[in-house]
Amino acid sequence: MTVDVASRIQRVQRALTAAGIDGLMVTPGADLRYLTGYDAKALERLTALVVPAAGEPWLAVPELELAEAQRSPAALSGMEVLTHGETDDPYTVAFAPLRRAATVAVDDHMWAQRVFALQDLFPDIRWRTPGRLLADLRMRKGPDEVASLRHAAAAIDRVHRRMGEFLTAGRSERQIAAAIAAAIVDEGHVRADFVIVGSGPNGASPHHSVSDRLLQPGDCVVVDIGGTTIDGYCSDSTRTYAVGAAPAEEVAEFYAVLHEAQHTQCDYAKPGVTAESVDRIGRKLISDAGLGQFFVHRTGHGIGLETHEEPYIVEGNTLVLEPGMAFSIEPGIYLPGRYGARIEDIVVTTQDGIERLNTTSRELTVVDG
Ligand code: ZN
Ligand code: ZN
Ligand code: ZN
Repeated sequence: MTVDVASRIQRVQRALTAAGIDGLMVTPGADLRYLTGYDAKALERLTALVVPAAGEPWLAVPELELAEAQRSPAALSGMEVLTHGETDDPYTVAFAPLRRAATVAVDDHMWAQRVFALQDLFPDIRWRTPGRLLADLRMRKGPDEVASLRHAAAAIDRVHRRMGEFLTAGRSERQIAAAIAAAIVDEGHVRADFVIVGSGPNGASPHHSVSDRLLQPGDCVVVDIGGTTIDGYCSDSTRTYAVGAAPAEEVAEFYAVLHEAQHTQCDYAKPGVTAESVDRIGRKLISDAGLGQFFVHRTGHGIGLETHEEPYIVEGNTLVLEPGMAFSIEPGIYLPGRYGARIEDIVVTTQDGIERLNTTSRELTVVDG
């Protein structure tokens, strides 16, 4: 996808003006990639985008990274690139044109070392975080971003469809995770970001990653996987599998509650409803089945250039959903010491509902084992 740098910069400048902020400084990370298309490395040498509320923005980069920066969508669309040499003070070079500003925001993930250096050099400026300014832009996805997320979702779905190759009784979670990580790359990501294989009792720990436990016939296995694609957008999908044999009646009943909750949340979510209400409707179903105490996390998180970003689908978030918001719907039920299950789809809000980007079966799929 080609990043429309000019329109993103314009939107951020409008937001800066509205918030009474004179400028914004952004170091490498998802915010920088969003605004410039530049996937710059986060290194000790300073790379920064500086956006004044009015006028032309610029990129400041180490001299030795000039060639890389010039290939970025920002530079290709005409943004000025300033360089600092090994013995220059990078903050002076990067920031001098804005030194008379009153209030400047820095990105939320800027290293503390840099924030303090800026404060020391420009003590009269009021430095602040951007608040909701960047999150408000990034959580409203354009059609090009939705297309990238759809592409990422299709890639992770191909990995889930191959799960029968990986989940075998007698193999360890760790061995399985290594094979899945390779498949995540093979199926269309530039890297695997995480692989959770929670078998049997390990499935009851939502943030379990992997262990040396060997899969047993009859295990429930929670597989939560994701990666990043070439254009920077992330995938994230969870399915729960049964190894070798159909699950016990008790497990099937518990899973049916979860499946119904996830399905109900997906049917309910649409523009005009709040993020917290999507959480509530699923949590109520699970609570009504007597399992509420075992659903120990929020329903979901936004996704885009980062796996976890706004909007968070959680009690207390009164944000009203709008078309173009992308987030996960991933209720889970975890019985400590026994087993757990989670179903996770990435969805995008449409004009009148949501589109589920992940489309593999949500049943408790039995793999041969
Ligand atoms: Zn996940
Ligand atoms: Zn997730
Ligand atoms: Zn269903």
